Amino acid sequence: MNKTYGDLLQDVKGAIQQVSLEELKAEMDRHVPMTIVDVREKDEWRQGYLPGALHLPRGFLEMQAEQKLPDKGAPIVVYCAGGIRSAFAAKSLQDLGYTNVRSANPGFGRWKDSGYPWDKPADLTPAQLDRYSRHILLPEVGEKGQEKLLEARVLLLGAGGLGSPAALYLAAAGIGKLGIVDNDVVDASNLQRQVMHGTDRVGTPKVESAKKTIENLNPDVKVHLFDERLNSGNVDRIFDHGWDVIVDGLDNFPTRYLVNDASVWKSIPVVHGSIFRFDGQVTTFWSSPPSSVGGTHGGKGPCYRCLYPEPPPAHLAPSCAEAGVLGILPGVVGTIQATEALKIVLGIGDPLVGRLLTYDSLKMQFRTLKLRRDKDCPVCGDHPTITTYVDYEGFCAR
Ligand SMILES: [Zn+2]
Repeated sequence: MNKTYGDLLQDVKGAIQQVSLEELKAEMDRHVPMTIVDVREKDEWRQGYLPGALHLPRGFLEMQAEQKLPDKGAPIVVYCAGGIRSAFAAKSLQDLGYTNVRSANPGFGRWKDSGYPWDKPADLTPAQLDRYSRHILLPEVGEKGQEKLLEARVLLLGAGGLGSPAALYLAAAGIGKLGIVDNDVVDASNLQRQVMHGTDRVGTPKVESAKKTIENLNPDVKVHLFDERLNSGNVDRIFDHGWDVIVDGLDNFPTRYLVNDASVWKSIPVVHGSIFRFDGQVTTFWSSPPSSVGGTHGGKGPCYRCLYPEPPPAHLAPSCAEAGVLGILPGVVGTIQATEALKIVLGIGDPLVGRLLTYDSLKMQFRTLKLRRDKDCPVCGDHPTITTYVDYEGFCAR
């Protein structure tokens, strides 16, 4: 005789283990290791889910289980809205060889009504879910990470060789707000490396050219332009926009100290890049002033002044005259800077804090050198001696 649905359900429930919501909640509070799997449909998931749950809809369970749940001995709890689909899912997983599966009973509806914690997926539009799907597929980013990127604010100092690739990739990645500081005009000699600009932009301000390119690339990005040269008089106004990260592509000595001091005092990480001929360097300065209590260093790593406390005397000053540069070099360095900025926004990986990455394009060699904080640093040290902005005009040897 054929089984009725009722018989089938009863058989399944008899063949699996169930866990009550109270017990599940208690185990989650105790951080008992387990993978929680939500087997509901996509639109149900979008209304909310258990914190940390993995979404594997019932219809795809058998197909995707081995890929998404590779360890067949690991503890798994499946849930749905009311406990029926999850019971069938638990049975299927058991049949596939999973040895430690339980089905939550009843399910998400009661969980939510009980006032237990739950998460909601990021509020991304269908167009955004599509545009950023390759980010969303990365568990380290996901919808939540993409939402972080869309809410992030990154300030780019310079829309030139380093700023171009950094801006393009940050815009493509969906950084919600990009500030750009530059007061130059696009020159034909820029186009060999400044890939954000084109031949039809020669003679127009770089910030405007940048805005056009970025808005065309990704309309999710709001662009905030600062068509001015950074100095002690405008640094506070420009930096005080809640920037999460600054990408320094100015690569000139006079502003380096200004950017450093302002970012230390405002505790904003600065991803610093520089290029010369065939060689490039990147590091992330992430420091803050010593806290007022006990002089404890509040930052995460050294600042620029930890390495070079003061500019060299005039007769030893570096030449700021334009040097040749391999056109691709800023592409590599600026892209690494953008990578650092994304990691900092997402809170993943190890930023180049206290490390200097050097790149030799001729030998095709990357090296990493350690950088140390100086407790006697005039800005971030235990007893700072510099507390106001200094303009180092006439700094370059001519
Ligand atoms: Zn320092």
